[in-house]
Amino acid sequence: MTDRRPMVAGNWKMNKTLGETAELLKALKPQLENIDSVDLVVCPPFIDLPLTKDILVGSNIKVGAQNMHWEASGAYTGEVSATMLKDLCDYVIIGHSERRAMFGETDETVNKKVMAALNAGLLPIVCVGETLEENEAGQTEAVVDRMVREGLKGLSQEQVGQIVIAYEPVWAIGTGKTATPDQANDVHKNVVRPILREMFGEELGNSIRILYGGSVKPGNAAELFGQSDIDGGLIGGASLKAADFAGIVDGAL
Ligand code: PEP
Repeated sequence: MTDRRPMVAGNWKMNKTLGETAELLKALKPQLENIDSVDLVVCPPFIDLPLTKDILVGSNIKVGAQNMHWEASGAYTGEVSATMLKDLCDYVIIGHSERRAMFGETDETVNKKVMAALNAGLLPIVCVGETLEENEAGQTEAVVDRMVREGLKGLSQEQVGQIVIAYEPVWAIGTGKTATPDQANDVHKNVVRPILREMFGEELGNSIRILYGGSVKPGNAAELFGQSDIDGGLIGGASLKAADFAGIVDGAL
C-alpha cells in the first residue's frame, strides 16, 4: 500500500497545431472532469502552451512543458527558459530519451535543468531509462542508477520533494513494446527507489512518485499502475487521443 498520489501526464511531443490543441483539450476536459484522485498533466509543444493554459484554467488538468534551457535568459537562439515557462505551466519534462538521443542532453545538462526548473518554481518530471542495447547487455541497473544520481545531484530535501521521476525504457517508447508490469516494477522498486532512499532518506525516498512510460495504452494501464512502485504514467502516443488518455487515467483510479 502506498499513499503516493498517482499521476498521469501526457507528452504530446511535436504534435498538434493550435486548432488541433483546442480540439483535443475540449474533448479531454469533460472526460476527465470528475477525476479527483489522480494528478493530471498535459505537456503540449511550447507554442500551444498559452492556449492550453487558457482552455484549462480552473480545470483539474495541469499544464507542463516538454523541455527548457537552464539559463534564465540570454543569447540562446531557439531556447525557452524556466522563468518564461513559469507564467504558462506548472510542470516540465526534463531529460526525455528523445532529447538525450537526438539533442545532445547529458546527465549534466539534465541536472542543470532540474535545478533551474526548481529555482523558478516549476515541478520537474525527470526521465531516466536504458536503451535496448544497454538492456540486452544487462546494464539497465547501472544506467538507471547513474541517471538518477547524476540528474538529482545537489538537490536539497525540500527540492527533491517536488520532483517526479519517469522510468522510460527507451526500447518501449513508441515501439508498442511495453515493459511487463513485473519488469517495470522491478526497476522502480529495486533500482530507483533504493537510490532515492539512499540519497534523500527513507521518508522522502518513499514519497517520490515514479511514473512508468513506454507504450502505455488503455488496455495495459491498470495492470502497470497496480504495481507497488508504479505511481502512474508518462504517456506519449496515446495522449494524443482524448478517449485513449482518459482510458489510461481510468487505469490509475
Ligand atoms: C514518451 O515519449 O514519453 C512515451 C512514453 O511515449 P509512448 O507512450 O508513445 O511510448
